Amino acid sequence: MTEQLHSTFYNARNVKNSDPGIQTFSPPLLHEEQGYWNEKEEWLYHLDVSTFDSAYNDRLLREAFKEWNHEVQGIPSLKQAVFSLWNSNKLCVAKSGELFSPIKEAVFQVLEQVDTDIKLYPQQSVVSEYKHYRLYTIPLQTRLEGKQLGVLCVAVPEVREGILEVLEAAKLFYQSIFYRHFEHHFLSDLLHIHKTTEKENRRRSILFQIVQRMHDRMDVQTVLQEVFESVAFLFPAARLTLYMSQDGITEDPRIKPLYLQGQYNPVCAMAYTEERMISQPLGLEKYEFGIPFRGKQGTYGVFHIETPKEVIEDVDIQLIVMMADTAGTAYENAKMHQQSNTLIQELRMIDELTKKINQSLQLADIYEYAVQQLMRIFKAKACCILKLDREDQQFRVLNSTLPSLGQEKYSLSGISGEVYRTGEPVIIFDYEKHTGPSSVFMEITNSKSMMAVPLRINGQVEGAILVTHQNKQFFSYDNFRFMDMLGVHIGLAVTNATLHAEVKRLAIVDALTGLYVRHYVDRMIEERQSSDFCGSLIVIDLDDFKQVNDSYGHQIGDQVLTQVSAVIRENGGPDDLCARWGGEEMAIYLPQVSAQQALFIAENIRVQISRRTSPAITVSCGIGEWCWLDDQVSVESLFYRADMALYEAKNSGRNRVCIENKNRNR
Ligand code: GH3
Ligand code: MG
Ligand code: MG
Repeated sequence: MTEQLHSTFYNARNVKNSDPGIQTFSPPLLHEEQGYWNEKEEWLYHLDVSTFDSAYNDRLLREAFKEWNHEVQGIPSLKQAVFSLWNSNKLCVAKSGELFSPIKEAVFQVLEQVDTDIKLYPQQSVVSEYKHYRLYTIPLQTRLEGKQLGVLCVAVPEVREGILEVLEAAKLFYQSIFYRHFEHHFLSDLLHIHKTTEKENRRRSILFQIVQRMHDRMDVQTVLQEVFESVAFLFPAARLTLYMSQDGITEDPRIKPLYLQGQYNPVCAMAYTEERMISQPLGLEKYEFGIPFRGKQGTYGVFHIETPKEVIEDVDIQLIVMMADTAGTAYENAKMHQQSNTLIQELRMIDELTKKINQSLQLADIYEYAVQQLMRIFKAKACCILKLDREDQQFRVLNSTLPSLGQEKYSLSGISGEVYRTGEPVIIFDYEKHTGPSSVFMEITNSKSMMAVPLRINGQVEGAILVTHQNKQFFSYDNFRFMDMLGVHIGLAVTNATLHAEVKRLAIVDALTGLYVRHYVDRMIEERQSSDFCGSLIVIDLDDFKQVNDSYGHQIGDQVLTQVSAVIRENGGPDDLCARWGGEEMAIYLPQVSAQQALFIAENIRVQISRRTSPAITVSCGIGEWCWLDDQVSVESLFYRADMALYEAKNSGRNRVCIENKNRNR
């Protein structure tokens, strides 16, 4: 009946639309009411039994007969009559007594002739086992097209007055009962469709709301939460588990890792690899479903649903599949949102870190800031930066949150040594289960988690940067990746400061001798003169050096200059300033030292040079001295006096030390 229902409904609506007459001539209010009722009547009137209803026909005929039979029993002219009802396929669908043979014959005759009149058959009485009956055949027709519906047959025990009129009324009565039943069925069907549509609409509206809510969520956890809640709301009897293929495993017991080998769930594995919904019975009373959880960029896992057989329908599964697809896209969006947020945050942190560590060109400051920033960014409990001391091949602690570490040196056999040798970063989730090399730092700080990255200076691995925490599994892979990135930035800042220090050193140190250049020592003497009481300057000039160059060449001359400068440096104390004053002339400034004390040092230098140079040369030295009581305290006058003394040494035969003649020069 359902198929017909649609076409009838459609026709009924068309009829309404094609009949505007009533609406035109009626007063507005009345017209509304009339229109409504007319429409309803017309709509029902246009309903009739059709070939679509053949499956229900016998049932309708029988139901109507039952009611009709009950009603007509009381009519006097039909007392003791035997009724039978036949469908157009010549089958008896209902009867009120024993059938005797002429009945069939009578009915078949009517059915074949497609007769519409009530007839007495066969124009006289028929004899049954006990009585003389008169047989009346009453053809039944459909109400619109008058098609054959069936035949009612009435066997009356004797001739009765006015029987034909009674039968005519009984026929109409039957037909009206029949159509009432027919309309009832039709309306029940309509109601059923209405209910199904309503259910479907409800589903759609729920799905719509779920879709909206999921897409409103910006983080992956709430998207998943939404799926669990929606399924629990729609199908309380269903048990939902999400098997995730990669990351995304949380503390939530409903989210589990997806295995494709070993102890795997075949439904889930199949749904994942074939990227489609898989279902199968689970025991006798349950069903299980595997529904892929995927977005545009990939499949993230599988939703697994366990449900009692009778609870879930196909449409429900379709709804869950749609929900899973929505969840997949929403999850993907949220994931991308989260990733870009992380990236922005990371960039901000890199910016902060680089700004901070580049504030100073002092290496000590840089290490200090780097440790502070790493502690803050990773919420670490301890941090240290190690650098290899090339001389003894041990790590020196450049900076650490544990000040006591600074004094110690550490061997290359630990985790930091491994990072140094391989140049690869290392992450340790649980130190207790760690099977690689041990770490002194982990043990001192009593840590379980660690990230260690190489410290690269000028492209070369020079050390390692370590952060640790007491809790195991404290650092994530994302932290690790980020830490590696920060390590690069710290390395760059250190490289920058190191190069800067080198440039600065080159500006004040003579390349050949390694002694300070004159302008630097000039500045330093000036500084000291402003705070010290006294000081001496020894000027040292190589004797007949021109001859050395002439005899051995400049290269040998340079070597001699280097030998001389080494002797000078060795004789200078930590506070003394040794300088190449220019050409083959050197100087050494001795703060807070008198000319007499300087004489002793100069003598030493002179003697040692004559012994330790090859080809052996000699030097002449002049000593000048200043004291805060002098009339004039300046580098120029100090040098002038030393130079005068040197002149004297040269003039008096070379290879000797002369002190300024105070009386003459002041
Ligand atoms: P005196 O004993 O009077 O000081 O004699 P001298 O030959 O040392 O003096 P002079 O000033 O005539 O010559 C200095 C020489 O030092 C001239 C120059 O060739 C040499 N000289 C200066 N600077 C350098 C240098 O950097 N390398 C070399 N190889 N020679 C240098
Ligand atoms: Mg000279
Ligand atoms: Mg000279």
